[in-house]
Order: sequence, then C-alpha cells, then structure tokens
Amino acid sequence: MVEVLIVGAGFSGAAIARVLAENGLRVRILEQRPHIGGNMYERTDENGVRSHVYGPHIFHTNSERVFAFLRRFSDFFPYEHRVLGRIDGKLVPIPFNFTSLETLFPAQQAKRLEERLLAAYPGREKISILDLTSSGDGELRAFGDYVFDRVFVHYTAKQWQQPVEEVDASVINRVPVVLGYDDRYFGDKIQAMPADGYTALFGRMLDHPNIALELSCDALGRLSLREGKLYLDGKEFPGPVVYTGAPDALLGYRFGPLPYRSLEFVFEQLELDSFQPAAVVNYPNEEDFTRITESKKLTGQVLPGRTTILREYPAAYAPGAARGGIPYYPVPNEANRALYERYRGALAAYPGLLLCGRLAEYRYCNMDAAVERALDAAQELLREWAPRKTEEKA
Ligand code: FAD
Ligand code: UDP
Repeated sequence: MVEVLIVGAGFSGAAIARVLAENGLRVRILEQRPHIGGNMYERTDENGVRSHVYGPHIFHTNSERVFAFLRRFSDFFPYEHRVLGRIDGKLVPIPFNFTSLETLFPAQQAKRLEERLLAAYPGREKISILDLTSSGDGELRAFGDYVFDRVFVHYTAKQWQQPVEEVDASVINRVPVVLGYDDRYFGDKIQAMPADGYTALFGRMLDHPNIALELSCDALGRLSLREGKLYLDGKEFPGPVVYTGAPDALLGYRFGPLPYRSLEFVFEQLELDSFQPAAVVNYPNEEDFTRITESKKLTGQVLPGRTTILREYPAAYAPGAARGGIPYYPVPNEANRALYERYRGALAAYPGLLLCGRLAEYRYCNMDAAVERALDAAQELLREWAPRKTEEKA
C-alpha cells in the first residue's frame, strides 16, 4: 500500500487526505499545531462560545462540487454574512451600498448620486472602488474618493502596512461598491455555515482508518530534501509528499523570506446578550485593529448573557516570534510572485513533492478555492499512484 505524507491539517491537507484514503492509499499527516482544522479551527471557550480562533471564517462558494464534498462531513445551515463599518461615527453596511450612502450623505445628494451611479453603470450590481475613483464624472469621482478614503485607505494601510496604491488591485477588489441595497458581504450562490462547526467537520473528514495524524509535530524537523529525494526521519520516503506550509521555510529561506502578513487576535469574554449589531464590524479608520468579530453570531449559538468578541490587530510576520509568528496572508505583487517562483522552481527538483494550499502556493484564496484545488490535486495524485481505482464521492 502506497503511503502518502501530508504536511498540514487545514482544508488543503485534510481534503486530499480524505480522498486518497478512500481510494486505498495510506496517509500520514504531520500538523505542527496541537489541533486539526488549520485556520478554520474553532474552540469552545469558557463562555460556551465556539470561537473562531484564527479569525472569522464564513463559507461561501459557487462550486456545487466543493459544497457537495464538504456536506459529506457536516450539515450546514444557511448563513448570509453582513458586515457593518464604523464611518464618521456611524455604523453603515460594508460593502458600501445605497444604505451607507443614504446614512452618510444628505438625502437630496444621496438620491442624485444614486441616479448618477445607476446611469453611469447600467445593469451593474457592483463596481470596483478603483473604477469609481477614476470615473470621468467629477461628482462620482469625488464620491469615489470619499468612499476610498473612509473605507479603504486606512484599513488597507493597517492591514498591509503599505500605502493602498502599492497593494495589489486584486486585494482591494475583494470588497466592491454595491449599486443597490444588497448588504451581503459575499455574492456567491451558496452561503452557509457548518452546523456544529469547522472543528467537528474536520474531525469527521479525518476519521478514516487509512489516515494517521500526528499533532504538535513540525514537519521541518522530520522532513529533509537532498538531491531530488525526500527523507522522513532520515530514511528515504518513497511515496508522494504533499506540503501545505510556507515554501521558503522548506528550503531554509535560501532566497530570503517570502513576505506574509500576520495578525494578533485579542479575545474578550463579556457578560452581555449582544456586543454589536452584526457578526463582524469593521473599523477602517481611527482604531489600531481592523475588525471585531462576535463569534456566536457566526455559529448561530443562543447564549443569553454571554458573548465573546475578538479584535484583529494586523502584525508584521516574523517567523517563530510570539507575536506575528503565523503567516496568515500572502502579499500578492509581482516581486513576491517572482520570489515565490524561485522557490517553486527549486522545489521542482523534487518530483515527489506537491505544493498545495494558500501558503504553499502563495495564493490569497478563500476556503472553497483551497478545497477545489485540493480535490484536483488528489485526483492528480491518484492518477499517478492509484491508477486503477479513483473516485471522489459526492
Ligand atoms: P491553512 O488553513 O493555513 O492550513 C495549513 C496548515 O499547515 C496549518 O494548520 C499549519 O499549522 C500547517 N503547517 C504549516 N507548516 C507546517 C509544518 N512545517 N509542519 C506541520 N504543519 C505545518 N476563507 C473563506 O472562505 N472565508 C472566510 O471568511 C475566510 N476568512 C479568513 C480570515 C482570516 C483571518 C484568514 C487568515 C483567512 C481567511 N480565509 C477565509 C481563508 C482560509 O483561511 C484559507 O483559504 C484556508 O485556511 C486555506 O487552507 P489551507 O489548508 O491551505 O491552509
Ligand atoms: N478592505 C478595506 N476596508 C474594509 C474591508 C476591506 O480597505 O472595510 C480592503 C483591505 O485592503 C482588505 C481587503 O479589502 O485587506 C480584503 O478584504 P476582506 O474582507 O476580503 O479581507 P479578509 O477577510 O480576507 O481579511
């Protein structure tokens, strides 16, 4: 029986492990954290709240395939995520929409802007803030500059420690301007949350007789790469190795560290029914943190008199440090992509190694994209290692 080594028990590692295990391969997973679930991990705290330990994770996708796969391991309840942002002292919907406009502008001006927006972008439900700030219509451009300043400039400077102009447009364009009253954060056709949480979902995904899991185990201390071959605990490892961690660490930062951004999460348990009117409130401007999440509003738990909130403070990434030691966000730009390609090129000398996931592929991707890529990667591996019997149950 072929043995496959997988580094990381987030969605990338766990989904691949499950598909390979169901197709008769033996899988060993090494996970450096003391728990499964990667950044999706939730912990039930002293307040009874299932707290999103690594920041709010809301599932949304247009992929029936991904949703069908995940539903094998959990029931889901419908959940449409709504975010408010504190702007000029008021809480308004983010993405900025017509309600935000009407809350922050005098009524007549708001109506005129709405008419001009609808005339300038016929048939469009959403536009990029960057379209608006480069509009040929002076009034729309001024409106765009206002939204850009109040919503994007300072939040982005905090989050990325870079002026907004230097941050890749793909990052900024994750959050549009909405030409209407839709106040949902995401537009995907499937928006749902796992009924008993992500950790339970991962538990069931990894519960298979062909999967062996070692927690609190940094693979870098066990795995070595020499002259095209992979070694585990000093012995040549004959099967494939799937690596979902940061690729620069795997090569001892040979070409210099790959830039990532980190976060610090500060939790507070409160004796309140409710702390804020939405699961997530963004603080784009004055505060040092970017957003506050009230986890029980994501999990759907009913816990009178108790709630837990978490503030997110952006931090520089410093490998191994107590603060900022976890690489959460790749920083997409041309120079970083080129550096990543150097690492990928050097690692291509190891044909048994497959890089997969948000960190390993240096892709700012959502959970559904990570799962989709993992399902494809599992099929790739099965074609090579289990050619006679491949299936992906739906
Ligand atoms: P990860 O979840 O990061 O898992 C990688 C695993 O590998 C980790 O458990 C890590 O400990 C382990 N590992 C790394 N190196 C080693 C090593 N050397 N040895 C052993 N183990 C190792 N997506 C959404 O769809 N919706 C959201 O609302 C959303 N919110 C997010 C909020 C935040 C703050 C962040 C940071 C991300 C968010 N995402 C969201 C994205 C989501 O977290 C990723 O798409 C997902 O985590 C990718 O899964 P992964 O398995 O590739 O990576
Ligand atoms: N953003 C912003 N203001 C906001 C929300 C988002 O400027 O109120 C920008 C910021 O640069 C952020 C990016 O849009 O990094 C993507 O936001 P998203 O909410 O998708 O970030 P994530 O949930 O992945 O941290």
